[in-house]
Amino acid sequence: MMKKLYMQLIAEFKRLGSTIVFASLSKIIICTKKRSVSDAKAYVDFILNSIHKKDLFHSIEIKAESCWEYLMWMDQANHGGVRGKLPKENDDEEPVDGTAYLNDSNDELIAAAPEDEPNVEMNWNMKKYLPTAASCQNYFQIVIASHIHAMYNHSLEERQYIEPGNTPIKKRTSSQSQRVAETSATPSLVTFAQERISGDLTQTLFSVTQKIQHTLSGDRSSNTDPSAEFPLLPGSHLPLNNPALEFVKFICKVLSLDSNTQNQVNKLRRDLLRLLGVGEFSSEATFRDPCSSLVLPEVICLSCNSCRDLDLCRDPFIAPAEGNKPASCRCANLECGGEYDMDFLETQLIDMVQKQSMAFILQDLKCVKCRGVKATNMSRYCTCAGNFAYTAPIDDFFDKLKTFRNVASHYKLTLLEETVNWIMERNPYMSK
Ligand SMILES: [Zn+2]
Ligand SMILES: [Zn+2]
Repeated sequence: MMKKLYMQLIAEFKRLGSTIVFASLSKIIICTKKRSVSDAKAYVDFILNSIHKKDLFHSIEIKAESCWEYLMWMDQANHGGVRGKLPKENDDEEPVDGTAYLNDSNDELIAAAPEDEPNVEMNWNMKKYLPTAASCQNYFQIVIASHIHAMYNHSLEERQYIEPGNTPIKKRTSSQSQRVAETSATPSLVTFAQERISGDLTQTLFSVTQKIQHTLSGDRSSNTDPSAEFPLLPGSHLPLNNPALEFVKFICKVLSLDSNTQNQVNKLRRDLLRLLGVGEFSSEATFRDPCSSLVLPEVICLSCNSCRDLDLCRDPFIAPAEGNKPASCRCANLECGGEYDMDFLETQLIDMVQKQSMAFILQDLKCVKCRGVKATNMSRYCTCAGNFAYTAPIDDFFDKLKTFRNVASHYKLTLLEETVNWIMERNPYMSK
């Protein structure tokens, strides 16, 4: 029923003209395409009002909780931007996106920092997978944050002028209320971004990439083992062994989130890859999320009863294990902050491992030639004389087990680790 209602709600948002950036059962982020916070707020209020009026949505408690003036969004663990201040009553500020939260508790608006200077918020999980040596992580932070900052500042400046296409050089004066054009398209911002990427940013990235390449050569002798420069994290699953290449891939992935600059980013990526001697279309040049995922569905907080899916590989509320003490995890509801029962989570994880192991063992076999599912129990070959193979490949199962093992050893969940190791030892052909 929740899922059904949720789908209806999303459809309603879309029907009323918003673009859904992200939606889950507890939070919806929409792009309002409005160019000031007050406009966006009014728009969101209007939508929420019309949603509240429908009988169907009477049981939902939903309200606007925070907003972004500028947001680059990849996923929940990878995003960054400049937060806007939601007007309490009549306050003139200017966001681009409005964020609406569905809430089951009675959250108050979290007061924004009072300073005028924009605060770039950076939540990039992938950054943690870069080496700390040669300032790889710092460079990532600086490049992306300065890009967000520049884009935000430009859109701010631009909003002081009514004619689109005008690129003012004037610096932002103070936070006095500004006149805002009613258009949602900003051709000048697009041009600005395109020029910035093919100009300044390209030059910066060339020198930074070269610097990383010279300092950290990585270990590319083997294609399957990660090299020591890269940190080993709960979600690590890729054989990362070329720091400069990974840096380029991550940066370009983030920049490519803006579809208006696709061509410029593609060119930048091509040139940077050429600098590293990597083919543009080779498999090593393709971006893959360095963090695997292990989702424990519907974890319920014991103190506030809020329910969420917990991704053990990238959840920001997990505190790492210290010494012999296993990791702890907090509730995502900031007002609650209650600690989850890790023993209980571990039992659920063990359950998951056992179920997946069983699913693998009980799976159907299929014929490689005629693709038919094996119907008889004892026959070695299909009636068409083809060999039988798994329907769910063993590598997938092995990868899942590795993630479980990785999580278990990082969070010091000993029973889980033992269980996974036991299964792996019993299947020696898997580790090949
Ligand atoms: Zn809680
Ligand atoms: Zn067959």
